[in-house]
Amino acid sequence: MKTLVMKFGGTSVGSVSAIENVIQIVRKAREDGIEQIAVIVSAMSGVTNNLKAGILGAAAGETETAHQIGQTLREQHEAVLKALGGSDYAPTLAEINGMIDDYARFCDSVGVLGEATPRALDYTMGLGERISARQIAAVLRAADIPAQAVDATHMIVTDDRFQDAAPLMEPTCRRIQEVLPPIFEAGDVAVITGFVGATEAGISTTLGRGASDYSAAIVGACLNCDELWIWTDVDGVMSADPRVVPDAGTIDRLSYREIGELAYYGAKVLHPKTISPVVEAKVPIWVKNTFNPDHPGTLIVPNGEAQAGRIFKAVTAVHDTGLVTVEGRGMLGIPGIAARTFSAVARTGTSILLISQASSEQSICFMVPKASVQAVVDALSGEFEQEITRRDIDRIAALAPLTIITVVGAGMLHVRGIAAKVFAAVADADVNVIAIAQGSSECSISFAVSADDGDTAVRAIHALTK
Ligand code: ASP
Ligand code: MG
Repeated sequence: MKTLVMKFGGTSVGSVSAIENVIQIVRKAREDGIEQIAVIVSAMSGVTNNLKAGILGAAAGETETAHQIGQTLREQHEAVLKALGGSDYAPTLAEINGMIDDYARFCDSVGVLGEATPRALDYTMGLGERISARQIAAVLRAADIPAQAVDATHMIVTDDRFQDAAPLMEPTCRRIQEVLPPIFEAGDVAVITGFVGATEAGISTTLGRGASDYSAAIVGACLNCDELWIWTDVDGVMSADPRVVPDAGTIDRLSYREIGELAYYGAKVLHPKTISPVVEAKVPIWVKNTFNPDHPGTLIVPNGEAQAGRIFKAVTAVHDTGLVTVEGRGMLGIPGIAARTFSAVARTGTSILLISQASSEQSICFMVPKASVQAVVDALSGEFEQEITRRDIDRIAALAPLTIITVVGAGMLHVRGIAAKVFAAVADADVNVIAIAQGSSECSISFAVSADDGDTAVRAIHALTK
């Protein structure tokens, strides 16, 4: 028995013509004899942002925004169902319109309260997926593919960190294994909402922006599926951002670690958390293009290898970052400075993107999003007030805006001279390197450059792949 989990992102379900491709892709999988198919869907592109704008507008006292957004949503979904919903789309449309009515009413109450809590945001922002799943199930049925919509709120159990909830894998897997098999046994495709979950008490949560990939990986892992296919709007994972490097190409194969580094350091194609649920189940993941389904895309497998003829596989950039340095000769040999530094940063709720410490122990430097730099500097100044007075710490400095460049490729760090080539290329392009860190996964090197130099550095390094 073959089980396939496929995820379609916002653009892949974002228009009538895109949804036509989705129908063909699902049909082909069935014709290829795959018995159990779970389809995870995003909201139509733009919908999540609109839903959020509507509720935030309501909280700010705009009484009309949410209603206007509701009206746009109604028209958008009616157009899809009219085009692809067959003759019997009325019940689905009525259901979707009912959900949009609920949204508008909910936003009205938020308007009365004058506040949109994270919990309220999660309830409203997950609506796009819930509508999308119903819509896709309906158009599949109209195309003679039996399908049922399933709300992941019945399956993905999370903690209550609204807006960025973490799944509790044990109850989640139990529920997935309860809910989906009867749907498969009935011969139906399960069309499941991405992005959303619910607490044990049944309160709606979301797994974070762009997290439908993560939802698909959770479902795939719990079903122990044969393959996970992520359908997006580009031909797989690219060797660099094609807007910066016009001749960037699709990478054939990546390891879990490599894609982990890439996703973390700026490749937008896959949510950074996607890999974690599948590590144990070792599910192979394909990243494919809904708009060019014949292109093989990128295959992501548990273990990596170097790609013949390439010294590394990809180069990414994370923009809008800043470097914070804790500096002082008095730090030498004093235990606990690093621990206190990072605890103080953690208290500000900032996550650290990169760390580097020179062995002279006279400075610790790390990178954080630019928006958090000031809060981090303030927290550190407070934490080390005494050390600063005693001159054990000379200064806490910040440098922004910077860009983090990451070069990724399995095995590259065992090959002599790669780092030298990378930094020589950067130097030849007249770019100054501000800080360097080597990923402990041994498949990446990251370094910081000034924001103005980011694109130049990416292009200079990418040119080495040829
Ligand atoms: N619709 C959600 C978002 O825009 C989740 C997703 O598309 O992956 O963040
Ligand atoms: Mg996405």
